[in-house]
Amino acid sequence: MTIDRIIKKFNDNNPGVDAGILQLAYDFAAEAHQGQVRKSGEPYIIHPLHVAYLLAEMKADLATVTAGILHDVPEDTTRTLEDLRVNFGPEVANLVRGITKLGKIKYRGLERYRENLKKMFLAMAVDIRVIFIKFCDRLHNMRTLEYLPEEKQQRISRETLEIYAPIAGILGIWRLKWQMEDLCFKYLHPEEFNKLEYKYEVEKKADRNNFFNRVKKELNPQLRDAEIPNEIEVRFKHLYSIYQKMKSKDRKFDEIYDVFALRVIVDDVNDCYKVLGIIHTLWRPKPNRFKDYIAVPKPNGYRSLHTTVFGPEGKAVEFQIRTRQMHDESIYGLAAHWHYKAQRQEGIHKQPSWIKEIIDIQKEFSDTSDFVHKIQLDVFQDRIFVLSPKGDAIELPEGATPIDYAYAIHTKVGNSAVRAIVNEEIVRLDQELKNSDVVEIITEKNKMHPSRDWLKFAKTKKARDAIKQYAKKSTFESFKKYIPGIGNKS
Ligand code: MN
Repeated sequence: MTIDRIIKKFNDNNPGVDAGILQLAYDFAAEAHQGQVRKSGEPYIIHPLHVAYLLAEMKADLATVTAGILHDVPEDTTRTLEDLRVNFGPEVANLVRGITKLGKIKYRGLERYRENLKKMFLAMAVDIRVIFIKFCDRLHNMRTLEYLPEEKQQRISRETLEIYAPIAGILGIWRLKWQMEDLCFKYLHPEEFNKLEYKYEVEKKADRNNFFNRVKKELNPQLRDAEIPNEIEVRFKHLYSIYQKMKSKDRKFDEIYDVFALRVIVDDVNDCYKVLGIIHTLWRPKPNRFKDYIAVPKPNGYRSLHTTVFGPEGKAVEFQIRTRQMHDESIYGLAAHWHYKAQRQEGIHKQPSWIKEIIDIQKEFSDTSDFVHKIQLDVFQDRIFVLSPKGDAIELPEGATPIDYAYAIHTKVGNSAVRAIVNEEIVRLDQELKNSDVVEIITEKNKMHPSRDWLKFAKTKKARDAIKQYAKKSTFESFKKYIPGIGNKS
């Protein structure tokens, strides 16, 4: 790995941006780490360079890639955070400080796990770019794990599988999640890993390549005639997810069908639908397997067209059709999402709403185990999107009800709610909402207080807090008349 490769990668994604600071950061870090070597025997500087390259690949911004090069300087060299601030400014220095803070964890066992999770979430709440750097740092450490003693390999792999990979999944950074999981799989279950890898990479490889070449050969001339510029790539399921599927469904490798898919990447949304038409004309679609995640994206923002057709020899083959931006967002998640937003000059660091929730929860809970429990309840659970009659999307946790929606709109709407209209049908306030339901709240002017019973089905913190607050107040009100001195004279 060289600094030139990193600069080139960064400029590929950000043409015309002056990346001179990357060269300066390299000179600074190379001097600071001078003489240090990693367990592999390589010069230390190779590690931060790899981390910076992974960041540039996921389209991180200039400050983040710079911080990637400098991330181990304060911890492992005589240069301090103050030196970084003077030379590279507060933004880069703050990112490196975030990484350095994450690094020090002194607990063991379950405590260590909880403390780790808490630190990750808090760092995320301050500046999510810190987490991007930490993930790339961990991925490169996993790739070079073979040089560490076995006991450390096991501990680091377990920690990566339990903490890092799930968070990467929440943020939609699938490429990092998969790579981490496969590396953990290799160290935690070496026998199963080797067996599966052999089947996948050796036994079935030739068959698979022949088949995909045939599919491409039939599809390519059609795409050329329609003048649709495109790239086709084969998507493989990663080994750890095959392993999990085999375990949970008790199936053999040959019975896991959706191991492969063909991805067709095109320039714009129009072309996505044109390609779909061509594929369905060439091969008969399998019933019930067509999904339009462009018109109705998944709650995590994922967009693509999916279809399974009976391809050559009548063999089922799955296609995923998407634009380049959809593709980048599907593998680099939030990181790529920001990149495209920044290009359009929109709010660059607008964070998803659950990050704000983390900050609120953190203010409320000082005890670590309560904090983690609450985070898991409120934030880790799956999210759905419902729509207002005007088409605004409101994000809610899975299992949310119209009362959660009402309080998400406004406390007044929540307090005076009596019924809801969901997809043009009048329903009770405790009916569970589903993704992309259209919801409207019926309110009653004279009813200005919530019902305590709503606590039985309200899911969001906002709704529950409002209901509880009123419940407390009304208990106090009803007690007041029995307490001499503060009661209303009635
Ligand atoms: Mn590092």
